[in-house]
Amino acid sequence: KSESNLSIIVVGASGDLASTKIFRTLFALFYEDRLPENFTIFGYARTVMTSEELRNLISRTLTCRIGQREKCNDKIERFLGRCFYHSGQYSSEEHFFELDSKLKEKEVGRLSNRLFYLAIPPNVTVDAVRCARRRASSENGWTRVIIEKPFGQDLDSSRELTRDIKQYLSEDQIFRIDHHLNEELVDNLLVLRFSNLVFEPLWSRNYIRNVQFIFSQDSRTDIQGRLVKFDDYGFIRDVMQNHLLQLLALFAMETPVSLDPEDIKNEKVKVLRSMRPVKLEDVVLGQYKGHIDSIAPTFTAATVFVDNSRWDGVPFMLIAGKALQSNRVEIRVQFRHVPGNLYNRKLGTDLDKTTNELVIRVLPDEAMYLKINSKVPGLGLRLDQTDLNLLYKSRCTPRGIPDAYERKLLDAIEGDQRSFIRSDELDAAYEVFTPLLKELERKKVAPELYSCGSTGPVGVHYLAAKHNVHYKDYL
Ligand code: NAP
Repeated sequence: KSESNLSIIVVGASGDLASTKIFRTLFALFYEDRLPENFTIFGYARTVMTSEELRNLISRTLTCRIGQREKCNDKIERFLGRCFYHSGQYSSEEHFFELDSKLKEKEVGRLSNRLFYLAIPPNVTVDAVRCARRRASSENGWTRVIIEKPFGQDLDSSRELTRDIKQYLSEDQIFRIDHHLNEELVDNLLVLRFSNLVFEPLWSRNYIRNVQFIFSQDSRTDIQGRLVKFDDYGFIRDVMQNHLLQLLALFAMETPVSLDPEDIKNEKVKVLRSMRPVKLEDVVLGQYKGHIDSIAPTFTAATVFVDNSRWDGVPFMLIAGKALQSNRVEIRVQFRHVPGNLYNRKLGTDLDKTTNELVIRVLPDEAMYLKINSKVPGLGLRLDQTDLNLLYKSRCTPRGIPDAYERKLLDAIEGDQRSFIRSDELDAAYEVFTPLLKELERKKVAPELYSCGSTGPVGVHYLAAKHNVHYKDYL
C-alpha cells in the first residue's frame, strides 16, 4: 500500500543480535519483496555512529541467496539506502523524541506504522518501552514492539515485567519472540491433527502411551555458540519452559474455535493451567564436560503431566540438550499396545518393539512417519516394523522452507500473533516451572556430566524407564 509507511526501529542496533540476525533477516525479506514499498529502518543505540557507519556494519553481514549476484548487489545498495541511525539513551524520552522527528522526516506525512525491535538487555526493556510509547509511537498507524527473552526469571519477576510493559502497551502491541519455536513443526502438527480423520480420534490417553518432545543441538552448533551467556538455569527457562512447553500445549490442546491465533492461545493456556508443576525427581540435568565453571545445565529432561480428562496419567517427556551428537527437533508419539495382540502371543515378540509410533520431525530432515507392523514377504510368518511415510522433504518445493526468523518478523509486521507468546501463556508456563527452578537454586543440584558429541547423560534412560517410556538414544 503505497500510502502507508513502515518504520522498523532496531533498538540495540550496535549489538550482537542486531548484526547477526535482525538486519540480515530484514534484508532477506526485502530481497523477497516481502517488505512494504515504503519502509525505513532505523538503528538506535547508545553507541555514537553515523548512518553511514551503521550501513557499513550492516553490509558486512548481508549475504545473497544463490545466483543473481548482480541483482543482489543492486538490492543491497537499495536496502542500505533505507537504513539510518540515531544515537540515544534507552531511558531518555528526549532522545526518543529526536528519533520521532527523524522518523517523521522519512514518513513524509504518510500513514505510518512503527515496529520497534528491542534487542537490548532486559534491565533496559521497560525504559525503552516507556520512551518509545510516549515519544516515538505512531500517531496515525499501529505501533508494535518485539521483545526478546528472558521474560523475567520466575513467576513473580515475569508478572512484574508484564505489568510494567502493560502500563504502556496493550496486549496486541506486544510481540514476545521465541527464537526456537519452529512454525513448520507447529503447522505440521495442527494440520495433521485437525485436517485428518484418522489421528484425532486417537489423540488421548486411551490410545497414546507417552509423547516425547525432543530438541537437540550438535556440538558444532553449540561450542561456538552463546552458551557462556546463560545464567544458571537459563537453559531450562529458554528451551524447556518456553519452547518445548509451547509445543506440548499445541499438541495436547482441545480443538480451537478457529485457527485464529487468539483462539489457539485460549486452548493452549487451558492445557498449561491443567499441568502439575514439574517435580525435581522427574528431572535429569546434564552438562557437557569442559563447559564453563558452573552448575548450569546444558541438557535437561523432564517428565510432565497434564491433569485433564484427555491426558490423565500420560507422561510427556521434554528433552533438550546442547553439544550432542545431532541437531534434532521432533515429536515422537508412542501408542499403546494392541490389546490381546495375537501376533505377540504367537511370535513372542517384545511388546515395546511392536507398538505404533508417530514421528513429526523438522530436523535433521523434515519428515512425518508412522511406524507400523507388517509381514515380511515370503514363506513363514515374520513381522517387521516399517515406516509409513506421510511426508518427506523431497515433496517440498526446491526453494525450501523460509528461515523461521524471517517468518516471525513478517508475522509481526502483519500483526499475526500466532508465534508470539501472550501474557497469560507466559504466566501459566512459569507456574509449571517456577517451583522446580526455585528448588534447583536452593539445592544447587549438580548436573550429570556427558561428553561433547555424545547422546547426553545416562540418567535420561532411567527417567524414561521410570515412566514406562520406550526411549532410544535419538539425540
Ligand atoms: P548485546 O549485544 O549484549 O546488547 C545489545 C546492545 O545493548 C549493545 O550493543 C549495547 O548497545 C546495549 N547494551 C549492552 N549492555 C547494556 C547495558 N548493561 N545497559 C544498557 N545497554 C546495554 O545483546 P544481544 O546479544 O544483541 O541480545 C539482545 C537481547 O536479545 C538480549 O536481551 C538477549 O538476552 C536477547 N537474545 C539474544 C539472542 C542472540 O542470539 N544474540 C538470542 C536470544 C535472545 P549500546 O552500548 O550501543 O547502547
